[in-house]
Parts: sequence; C-alpha cells; structure tokens
Amino acid sequence: MTAVKQRVEDSDIDPNFKYELANILGEKALLHCFQCGTCTSSCPVADDVDIKPHQVIGMTLLGLKGKLLQSKTIWLCAACLECAENCPRGVRSFYLQSVLKNLAARANNLPEGIREEGEIILTTGLAIPISSGILKRREKLGLPDLTPPAAETFQKIAEVTGLASLLSKKGGKEK
Ligand code: SF4
Ligand code: SF4
Repeated sequence: MTAVKQRVEDSDIDPNFKYELANILGEKALLHCFQCGTCTSSCPVADDVDIKPHQVIGMTLLGLKGKLLQSKTIWLCAACLECAENCPRGVRSFYLQSVLKNLAARANNLPEGIREEGEIILTTGLAIPISSGILKRREKLGLPDLTPPAAETFQKIAEVTGLASLLSKKGGKEK
C-alpha cells in the first residue's frame, strides 16, 4: 500500500469542511474516525485508487477539500458498502464519497468518461446502448424484444435536478 505524500499549504486547508460534510450527511460519525484503516483493508478497489478510503476520511478531517475534490478515488468507489459495514466507529465512508462526488461535479471536476456516460443515458435512455450483438444474444436465449425507454423522461429529470447543466460543462478531467 502506498502512502499519500503531498505537500500541504495553509491555503489548502478548510477547517470547516468536516463540519460541512457532517451537516450534509446528517451525522457526526466521521468526526470520530480514529484512522484504524479497516475501511481500506475491506475495500475492493483500494489498490487502484490514489487516496485510500481511510485517507479520504483523514483528509476530510484535516480540511483538504480541494485535493479530495480532484481525487480519482471518489469516482472509482464501487459502492459496495464494505467500508461502512466494517467501520468500528460507524463511519459511512460510502455516503461521504457520494457527497464528495456531488461537490466535485459542481466544482467542474467531473471526469470526462463519467460526463460522456451521462450524455449517453440522456440521449438513449440507456446506460449501455442496444447493439446488434446484444439483440442476437437475446434472440438466441429466447428473450423478448427490447423496447428502448423514453429518453425524454431522463432529459426532464436532468433539467429539473441540474444534471443537464453539469453535463454540458466540458473540460473535466480524464477518468
Ligand atoms: S474503518 Fe472507520 S474508524 Fe477506521 S479508518 Fe475507516 S472510517 Fe476511520
Ligand atoms: S463503498 Fe467504495 S470506498 Fe467503500 S469499500 Fe466499497 S468500493 Fe471501497
């Protein structure tokens, strides 16, 4: 496991960040993290992320908002909930990562790959477009024809929630 080694300046620190997140989450458990590392040891993507799950909590407590919102970790989280289920302090890391993703997207740190996936969903109504290969396999398995969903429904939701505006901002980073 590699440690995060980065120089930290005073200007990198937002002392209110942990309280802001605790407020959004509606619970104070993250303030009680004692950095045991159990969340990282149970995380299936821990070897692939730039900041380990326990470091995400530690950096949150230190107020390193800018560095966290630029992290790849928050976008690679598989949402398996292992970290939350195993934490001895009841910290729900998964929910924290979801909040960080929302904040990163609003700060225009949406990875280009995620933005493109969002655009595909709004255009087709599907996360995975229907290909001729998929149709052939379905026919072979005797499955019924696929009816594409109404993409307009997703577009309306995206307009109302502000997702459409976020996706229209190009210039995010590579996933
Ligand atoms: S398992 Fe819980 S207490 Fe331990 S480092 Fe992770 S968040 Fe902190
Ligand atoms: S929810 Fe995300 S951070 Fe937590 S263990 Fe699963 S992949 Fe790792």
